[in-house]
Amino acid sequence: MIFEHGTLITVDARRQIIRDGALAVEGGRISAIGTSAELLAQYPAARRTNLQGRVVIPGLVNAHVHLAQAMIRGCADDMELIDWLGKRVWVLQGNYTEDDGRASAELCILEMLKSGTTAFVESMLAGRYGFDGIAEVVLSSGIRAALAKIVMDTSTYATRDNWMYPGMVEDRDTTLRDTLAMHDKWDGAGDGRLKVWFGPRTPGGVSLELYRQITELARQRQMGITVHLAEVQADRTFLKDKYGLSPAEFAESAGLVGPQVLLVHAVWMDAQDIGILSRTGTHVAHNPASNSKLASGIAPIAEMLSSGVNVALGTDGGPSNNTYDLVREMRLASYLQKARTLDPLALPAEAVLEMATIGGARAMGLQDHIGSLEVGKHADFVVFDLDRPHTTPCTDPVSTLVYAAAGSDVTMVVIGGRVVVRDGRVLTMDEDRILQEAGERSRQLWERAGITHVGRWPVR
Ligand SMILES: [Zn+2]
Repeated sequence: MIFEHGTLITVDARRQIIRDGALAVEGGRISAIGTSAELLAQYPAARRTNLQGRVVIPGLVNAHVHLAQAMIRGCADDMELIDWLGKRVWVLQGNYTEDDGRASAELCILEMLKSGTTAFVESMLAGRYGFDGIAEVVLSSGIRAALAKIVMDTSTYATRDNWMYPGMVEDRDTTLRDTLAMHDKWDGAGDGRLKVWFGPRTPGGVSLELYRQITELARQRQMGITVHLAEVQADRTFLKDKYGLSPAEFAESAGLVGPQVLLVHAVWMDAQDIGILSRTGTHVAHNPASNSKLASGIAPIAEMLSSGVNVALGTDGGPSNNTYDLVREMRLASYLQKARTLDPLALPAEAVLEMATIGGARAMGLQDHIGSLEVGKHADFVVFDLDRPHTTPCTDPVSTLVYAAAGSDVTMVVIGGRVVVRDGRVLTMDEDRILQEAGERSRQLWERAGITHVGRWPVR
């Protein structure tokens, strides 16, 4: 099968852009890439799809997602983090049934596919969301995922003892046992599309001893670990007061460093912390919208990249972003670094696109398989229609994509050679049913949780 007549932004080692380019796909992988004329000569009998001058990029990798939060999008806008968690997010999440977990995962994956995400890391699946149901949604939707399951042993949040909402509290033995059981059952399913990781809670929800046990098990089983770290300034103070360590020093002492570890947020990191991340090859998932909306701060991404830290891009969840559109996230990531450093050269469009593609692939340990358009890699790519008012003229496709486009400009998504989105419609999921069910379940959930009106203006 040949996809021809597109502008290919390959993100390959030479960062080539091919005008009137084409991709040949065989057995789910890219078997050739070049100009349309070259590939037509090479494969005269292939089945052809005309991309009509559209822009093609490697599938986007969303390195930080909370699937269960899609259904509580907008539940806690303009609130302090403690109220955000304690009065809204945990109260709602603590009332989820397994069917709610599955319905929210469907909604979230539907949104991600339509906006060009082909792989993602879910960072914290609670037991009550139903791991099996969510794994099945991943497999049937066609997307790639690392699903990290929550591990925890205390219900402390920062310095607040036993403060976590009861429906969100799980115990050490159950969370450890279930994570290993889900790894045995699902890791590698769907021809390797699904991975199972550890998703321990933040320091405060997990003892140092349990972190060490998790990292040891992860090494034995070659599992990934993702953990929120240094999201807000109070996290840094908490680690200093409790352990006498900076965030990266704490991570190193707990074994939470290295190429298998994806740290989330890393906002409150200083030069010494960044040095530790760089030396150990630890990945960072940057979530600019969430960090802005919750007023957490702006992570020193420019400094991380110049120190050689691999940074990937994430959207975080429905109450903190409030979308899962990684295209819009790219724009904000770049703009925030420029505003923070007073340097318009900070985080150029190309660097952001790298974070959202090959950087995410590295963070998932999949850099040899996804993240760029190269021969031998999975045929995971996204087609954008940039012949629209807000993207015309498209003088440089990378700039247009990062600074002007949105996820709604995606027309086609291919994952492992399978067309998952065509003409903007997801072929593997029932869009109407999913939207209707998510709306209905969301209403019931809010009612069970006792949360009614969340807006500030009166509604008559
Ligand atoms: Zn998060």
